[in-house]
Amino acid sequence: MRVSVPAPSTPRSRGISKAGVIAAESTQGGHPTPAGYPMPSSQAVTAVMRGNRRSDTGLEVRVRSELHRRGFRFRKQLLIAACGIRVRADVAFPRQRLAIFLDGCFWHRCPEHGNSPRSNSAYWSAKLDRNVERDLKVLAALSSEGWRVLRIWEHVPADLAADQVQAALTECMAVADAC
Ligand SMILES: [Zn+2]
Repeated sequence: MRVSVPAPSTPRSRGISKAGVIAAESTQGGHPTPAGYPMPSSQAVTAVMRGNRRSDTGLEVRVRSELHRRGFRFRKQLLIAACGIRVRADVAFPRQRLAIFLDGCFWHRCPEHGNSPRSNSAYWSAKLDRNVERDLKVLAALSSEGWRVLRIWEHVPADLAADQVQAALTECMAVADAC
C-alpha cells in the first residue's frame, strides 16, 4: 500500500515545531520543488523525515508533562528576542531567565544519532549545518543577555530531561540569591 505524503506547505495546527519551521523555509541548491522543498527520493527517506517530525513533537509533550507532574510552572514556545535574534524556547522560565530547547537528533545533528540522508545530501547537509549554526548564534545571543540556555537531546528520556531542567533551575535560583 502506498502511503501518501502530506504537502510540505500544510500548516501544523498547533505549536511551531522545528520541523514545521524548517519545512516552511525556502531553499537554495539541492533539487527543490516549486514549493522550495526537495522531492523525497524514496519512501524510506520520507519515513525518516516524517518520523523525525513526530518524535520532535512527542518529545516536547513528554518533557512538558513530566515537568507539570513535578509541579513546575513554565511558559512554552516563549518568544525571546536577544541581540537581534528572535527565537522560541520550547520551555522557558522567564523570571529565572532559563531557556530550554528540546532538540531533535536528526535536525540538530546529535553526535550519536545525527546523520545526513544519502539522497539529496547537498540539500540536507546545508540545511542541517544552518540549524547547528543557528543553535550556536542563539546560545551566544541569549547568553549575552543573561539567559541560561539548556539544550536537551531528543534521545534523553523525559524523566532525565526533567532532572536536567530541575538542576539548571536550582542553579539559576542560587545565582539570583547570591546577587
Ligand atoms: Zn540523539
